[in-house]
Amino acid sequence: MTRQGRMGRVDLVGGGPGPVDLMTVRAWRLLAEADVVVMDRLGPTDIRSHLAPDVEIIDVGKLPGHHPVPQHEINAILVDRARSGKRVVRLKGGDPFVFGRGGEEVAACVAAGVPVDVVPGVTSAVAVPEAAGIPVTHRGIASAVHIVNGQSEVTPATLAALGDAAVTTVILMGVGALPRLVADALRAGVPGSRPVAIVERGHHADQRTTRTTLGAVVLEAGRIGVRNPAVVVVGDVARAGLLIPDLLPEHALAGDTSL
Ligand code: SAH
Repeated sequence: MTRQGRMGRVDLVGGGPGPVDLMTVRAWRLLAEADVVVMDRLGPTDIRSHLAPDVEIIDVGKLPGHHPVPQHEINAILVDRARSGKRVVRLKGGDPFVFGRGGEEVAACVAAGVPVDVVPGVTSAVAVPEAAGIPVTHRGIASAVHIVNGQSEVTPATLAALGDAAVTTVILMGVGALPRLVADALRAGVPGSRPVAIVERGHHADQRTTRTTLGAVVLEAGRIGVRNPAVVVVGDVARAGLLIPDLLPEHALAGDTSL
């Protein structure tokens, strides 16, 4: 509380996969009203140039394997700023509740009695494959989607999804863990012929799509030097030429000739 007794608030805002025009209108409104913006490494980082000069920008961006600002400190920043009467936007890449630790931030605000709301964002789990012309579901080809954090242990549910021809598996944070994940899948009997697409830097000008198979993906990823951020799609929807390229918006094809 300030001396005037004004309590601030926190809005967890999904910023989408990168381009600022993939943010929602509500995200733009809240950013325009914000006193403080707490930003990540991924998501709409270009937003800085659209913010008023007196907005406090706090960058808590994480590199894979590095956590410059631990989660409990991020939670504390949100709570402290809101308690001092500020309107805080916690801008997150993609959607706040898809591997974004958004749930923990909401819980921290609720526990501290800070008003908090969540604004959905365009998740990379769907939008990054989409940018490469890959529909995560497709009538007659894939009727379910399994979204998994590649850094987690490979569970029986993930092995079942990888082995089910009617399921698309979407792997986030999967670049480093790919060899282990693929080895586990092949050992569990998933066919090496399963189509795989790796989409790096989806919705950016230097987006790159690599089409391969489960049996070949590790060698191929190493050969071309696949890097984060990337989304890995396993399933029949990932095979080249599934959709007619000219049905896609032109910008989705920028730098991507693999359709
Ligand atoms: N909450 C986010 C995901 C956070 S986990 C969301 O809903 O999109 C971070 C992972 O998202 C990255 O490791 C990568 O797998 C994926 N990712 C996010 N933005 C991406 C982009 N523009 N291109 C490719 N992958 C991206």
